[in-house]
Amino acid sequence: MIKGQTAIVTGSTSGIGLGIARALAAEGADIMLNGFGDAATIETLRADLVREFAVQVLYNGADLSKAAQCEDLIVDTERRLGKVDILVNNAGIQHVARVENFPTDRWDAVIAINLSSAFHTIRKVLPGMQGRGSGRIINIASTHGLVASAEKAAYVAAKHGIVGLTKVVALENAESPITCNAICPGWVLTPLVQTQIEARATREGIAVAVAERELLLEKQPTARFTTVEQLGALVVFLAGPGAANITGAALPVDGGWTAR
Ligand code: NAD
Repeated sequence: MIKGQTAIVTGSTSGIGLGIARALAAEGADIMLNGFGDAATIETLRADLVREFAVQVLYNGADLSKAAQCEDLIVDTERRLGKVDILVNNAGIQHVARVENFPTDRWDAVIAINLSSAFHTIRKVLPGMQGRGSGRIINIASTHGLVASAEKAAYVAAKHGIVGLTKVVALENAESPITCNAICPGWVLTPLVQTQIEARATREGIAVAVAERELLLEKQPTARFTTVEQLGALVVFLAGPGAANITGAALPVDGGWTAR
């Protein structure tokens, strides 16, 4: 039963994180939103979730590139919502360049936000979960946690890393009811991917719609984007009783990308 539980979804002011927050709120979970954006827009998102689903929804603007702010996000949620039953580590950024041209500050930022932030939040949330003898940790990795693509060194390293972190946390808590799993989406049409489509259109001098189709066909055999609603539904399943014995898994939702 997710109703009455409390969930943190990092990077939930946009894209996949917002879809996951909506799905958990629809099941009756109280939500801590996190992520960047215009304050008035975020307040509208927050108030809309409260109105639509009649749950508590709070916001914490922690910058997850900073270890102390990752920890503060957990402490603040425990203080304001009482506990954290479900932690979804979703915040992420991308930078695309060949290794020899990869700016070191972009490497550091991608590793900090896409990998280290999950270590810091998990480390801080576990004692409370262990004390209550329950908890679900869900890390949004990527197909790039399972296979690589050129020009994504930091992202692929971070996503392989978070799949490894997921397995270790699962093993260390295996005899308790706490589970830790990773979801590995293929292409999802969010601002993070829209930027890559537009860059491709500019680079190749083609229409954005053509670039979108090319990007899909290159990797994702179904030629359909994974949707944020599909990812929200999987998070709801992983947070529910049916998934009690799924732990340490890296679950692709990738239209066949990693079947090739
Ligand atoms: P998005 O750009 O729409 O959203 C990213 C979210 O992270 C935003 O809310 C943003 O404000 C937040 N964020 C960025 N830096 C942050 C920081 N320093 N501190 C706190 N929040 C921060 O991207 P998305 O496509 O929804 O991606 C969400 C996750 O899903 C990422 O981890 C991404 O790697 C992963 N993913 C995306 C795709 C895809 O095709 N879109 C595929 C596989 C995995």
